[in-house]
Amino acid sequence: MSSRKFFVGGNWKMNGSKGELDNLVNLLAKNSSETEVVVAPPFVFLDYLHNKKTNFALSGQNCYKESKGAFTGEISPKMLKDVGADWVILGHSERRHVFGEKDDLIADKVAFALKEGLSVIFCIGEKIEERENNLTEKICFGQLGAIKDKIKDWSKIVVAYEPVWAIGTGKTATPEQAQEIHQALRKWLHDNISQDASNKTRILYGGSVTGANCKELAAKADIDGFLVGGASLKPEFANIVNSKN
Ligand code: PEP
Repeated sequence: MSSRKFFVGGNWKMNGSKGELDNLVNLLAKNSSETEVVVAPPFVFLDYLHNKKTNFALSGQNCYKESKGAFTGEISPKMLKDVGADWVILGHSERRHVFGEKDDLIADKVAFALKEGLSVIFCIGEKIEERENNLTEKICFGQLGAIKDKIKDWSKIVVAYEPVWAIGTGKTATPEQAQEIHQALRKWLHDNISQDASNKTRILYGGSVTGANCKELAAKADIDGFLVGGASLKPEFANIVNSKN
């Protein structure tokens, strides 16, 4: 049995309203699992949730690599903390592939967010053509390698393996496919960071996780939780939070 605390993140992306977030607060209020739960609503709702009694932590969906200044449309780690977020998602595939964020920028953001005291959900994952060309490990190791030299302390990082072809598509990696790459990622941490980082870093799976498929995935040895998009907007999110019970 792993000593890593099971972790479930809900990424609401550009969805939701105060009313829908109230429903989530009520839904999770009944949750008594040991799982660490972190919810990332759109930025504008963070303060609203912060002022409520919740039994989950808050995350931003992105942040910039500077503390302030002429960066229209961006927000800083300090601002996230000011409105109650302890976490930030960085390197999400939509930031990489819709907004064109490159490894270098993402690595700078990860380093700066950690320096400013946030914990980071760091997302990696391959596109379908990369998987079909047997490049899954190469791509994921490259994305991890991009942050390696800029990060000293891995204790505040959770890695989310999210194959791009599985995000929002209804196509989930099989538990075996997910376990295979999670195990390889843990070995990468051992070989490139430390035994300690390999033992302790939580590696989440993300990509069309639902109430129906979560238990089988959660049973795999190297799957330490989930990053959930679509299903985090629905009542089944409570089942995903409880998938390890
Ligand atoms: C995500 O956005 O991180 C994600 C995994 O989305 P979905 O669960 O909808 O595939």
